[in-house]
Amino acid sequence: MKVFNTLSRKKEEFVPLQEGKVSMYVCGPTVYNLIHIGNARPMIVFDTARRYMEHKGYEVNYVSNFTDVDDKIIKKANEEGVEASVISERYIMECKKDMEALNVKSATTHPKATNEIGGMIEMIQTLIDKGHAYVAQDGTVYYKTRSFKEYGKLSHKNLDDLRSGERALLVSGQEQKQDALDFVLWKPKKEGEPYWESPWCEGRPGWHIECSVMSKKYLGDEIDIHAGGEDLIFPHHENEIAQSEAANGKEFAKYWLHNGFLNIDNKKMSKSAGNFFTVRDISEKYDLQVLRFFMLSAHYRSPLNFSADLMEAAKNGLERIVTGVDNLNFLLEHGAKGAMTEEERKLVETAKGYIEKFDAAMDDDFNTADAISAIFELVKFVNTHVSGESSGAFVEAMKDEILLLSDICGLIVDRKKEILDTEVEGLIQERQEARKAKNFARADEIRDMLAAQGIILEDTREGVKWKRA
Ligand code: AMP
Ligand code: ZN
Repeated sequence: MKVFNTLSRKKEEFVPLQEGKVSMYVCGPTVYNLIHIGNARPMIVFDTARRYMEHKGYEVNYVSNFTDVDDKIIKKANEEGVEASVISERYIMECKKDMEALNVKSATTHPKATNEIGGMIEMIQTLIDKGHAYVAQDGTVYYKTRSFKEYGKLSHKNLDDLRSGERALLVSGQEQKQDALDFVLWKPKKEGEPYWESPWCEGRPGWHIECSVMSKKYLGDEIDIHAGGEDLIFPHHENEIAQSEAANGKEFAKYWLHNGFLNIDNKKMSKSAGNFFTVRDISEKYDLQVLRFFMLSAHYRSPLNFSADLMEAAKNGLERIVTGVDNLNFLLEHGAKGAMTEEERKLVETAKGYIEKFDAAMDDDFNTADAISAIFELVKFVNTHVSGESSGAFVEAMKDEILLLSDICGLIVDRKKEILDTEVEGLIQERQEARKAKNFARADEIRDMLAAQGIILEDTREGVKWKRA
C-alpha cells in the first residue's frame, strides 16, 4: 500500500511501526456549531482509509479529538449565558449524530481537550525545561520556534522566508513574544472565560498543544499516521511536530495525510457569502449516504466542488449499486436456491478480479474514485450474469462481493439492512417508554415499523432482545 506523505511530498510504501497495527490520529472539529460539509470530508475519507486498512487485516487504533475550548465556543456560551461546556457538549452530541448518519465509525478514542489539561501542562513544562519554551511577564507561555531546527519541514517553508513574510503573526496582545514566529502554548484567562490553574498563570491552553498531548497519551510518542484537512498543515501540524518532537525526542508521525478542500459552486465555503451548508442541511434533501458517496467519488487530495448537479450525479451513482443489490434480494426472496453450477463457480472466480481492481485502487493512496469504478464494473458484471435461473449460492456470492466492497467505502447499499443498530436500539427504547406510558398504539407501531425492516423483537425477562430476520 502506498500513501502520499506531505512530509516528503511523495507517495511512499506504507510500513507500520508495529507489524499488523496502525496508530492514526485525525484532528477533529471545534465544537461550537453543527458540523459543515467541509468538516465531513476528513471524517469520511479517513474513516474509509481506516476501513480499508482493517479490511487488509491491520488493527487500527484511531483517535480523533474534539476541540472543546476555543474562542468561538466561549463567544457562543457568553451569548447564550451558559457555561462553555454546555455548548461543547451539545455540539459533540450533534456531531456524533451526523457521523453516525454518515456511517463514520466511532474512533477507538474521542478525547476532549478539556479532559487533558494536566497532560498539556506537563508537556509545556517539559518544553520549558528543555529550552524550547519561555514564560512571558503576563504568564503567557510561548514556544520558541527557532529552537526547533526542523521547523518548516512539513509545510516546506523556510524559517527566514516565514520571518519576513508572516509579520502578521505578531498580532496585538502578543507583543511579549521574543520572535514573531513564536506561538502560544498557554495563555492567561480573560474575563468570562473558562480557566485552569497552572504553574504560570490561571489560563487555558493554546490550540496546537492539545493534539500533541492527546496523540501521545492515546497512541504513544511515535505514531503511523497523522491526518486532517490541508488547511492544518501550517501552522497547526507544523507546530504539533515542533512541540512533540522537541518534548519527546522522537519522530512524531511517520506519514502525514491531508485532504483537499471542499468548495461550493467553485467558491470557498463561507457563511457570510451564503454558500455554506451543514451536514444537517444536506440531510433534509438527501440521504446522507449520497453525501458520503459524493465525497468518495473524488480522490481525497483533490479539491472537491459541491453543487446540486454533482449531488444528483452522486445520487444516481449510488442508486446503481443499490438497485443491483435490490435485484439480488428479489431473486433470493423469489426462489433462487441451491448450490452453484460449475459455470457459476468460474464466474465467481472471474468476479474476484473486481476485488483485485478495487484493492489496487485503494493501495494507490486510497484512490476511492477508481475503487468506486471497480464496484460499478462489478455491478454491471452481476447484472449481466445473474438471472432468474441462477442458483441461490451464486446470487448470495455476488451479493456478498458487492457488499464487501461497499462496506469498505462505508456505503450502505442493502436496503434490507439500511436501519443501523443504534437506530434499532433507539426505537426499542422509545417503544419501552411508550409502553410504560400505556401508549400501546405507539408501541405497536414501532414494533411493526421494525418488523417491516426485518427486525424481530423478543420480550424476555432480561429486557428486549432483537435480531435481523
Ligand atoms: P475545524 O473545526 O475548522 O478545526 O475543522 C475540522 C476539520 O475539518 C479539519 O481537519 C479541517 O481541515 C477540515 N475542514 C474544514 N473546512 C474544510 C473544507 N471546506 N474542506 C475540507 N476540509 C475542511
Ligand atoms: Zn490537531
